[in-house]
Amino acid sequence: MNDNPMKLVVVGAGGRMGQTLIRVIQETDGAMLHAAIEREGSPFIGKDAGELAGVGTIGVPVTADPLQAFVDAEGVLDFTSPAATVEFAGLAAQARIVHVIGTTGCSLSDDQKIEAASRHACIIKSGNMSLGVNLLGVLVEQAARALPAENWDIEVLEMHHKHKVDAPSGTALLLGDAAARGRGIELQANAVKVRDGHTGARPAGTIGFATLRGGSVVGDHSVILAGEGELVTLSHSARDRSIFARGAVAAALWGRGQKPGLYDMLDVLGLSH
Ligand code: NAP
Repeated sequence: MNDNPMKLVVVGAGGRMGQTLIRVIQETDGAMLHAAIEREGSPFIGKDAGELAGVGTIGVPVTADPLQAFVDAEGVLDFTSPAATVEFAGLAAQARIVHVIGTTGCSLSDDQKIEAASRHACIIKSGNMSLGVNLLGVLVEQAARALPAENWDIEVLEMHHKHKVDAPSGTALLLGDAAARGRGIELQANAVKVRDGHTGARPAGTIGFATLRGGSVVGDHSVILAGEGELVTLSHSARDRSIFARGAVAAALWGRGQKPGLYDMLDVLGLSH
């Protein structure tokens, strides 16, 4: 048991989630900001990370040198982009430190590289780090198992702010995956992510996705189970980004004592089976 605060690096420190992570680390006992990283050429380089995040001066300047930052660190919190995350996974594995990945939109090949890195480091990756969404996933899996696929259609609806660059959201995919697990099928082979024009009738057993983008919505998700004459809707609304940041910091603290491997938030929250 290590009583010293866990030394955490925030990569993508200037981003929406990066700034929220810095704020949450500052208010979490048992965690401290060790370094803050942005890409080379970013206007945030050299600025104080605390000032950037609106919590006052904390004496940690933003740098563009992850290698140096990871050497003495114990964990890295990463909400950036798939290409950056794959690179950070390699560096975190070399440094043998915990890597918490919130980045969404990773391709199959990105995920394979992340899995390879998890042979040497504890990686916790989730499309949504909030307690509420992970609980929702458990409920969706139960509902999908209970309601027969011949009579019940499953649709995942999501809305996010206008700056989001990937679709469907990582959370929508997490919920679709939970539904597929409940039905004992593969999401990849049964997902319908786009509908346009004369699509024909809905094939039974598929899991549909619908994506809305606009304004400043942090993240709204609904899983609709549609039967003959009745609908069951399970939903979650994120009002504040700090729910993801608090989950990410909790994941890092949990990961401190774990063996190398690839974990998700269900492991961290004790909801896995
Ligand atoms: P954002 O505001 O665009 O922040 C991303 C940050 O990462 C930017 O500051 C970006 O810098 C930086 N970055 C990109 N490549 C980098 C590199 N190679 N080195 C250092 N910094 C780099 O986006 P966001 O809204 O915070 O979201 C970030 C990611 O987290 C997205 O994939 C989003 O879907 C995901 N997310 C996940 C959860 C969850 O719970 N899992 C919750 C919310 C968001 P530039 O601007 O210079 O590119």
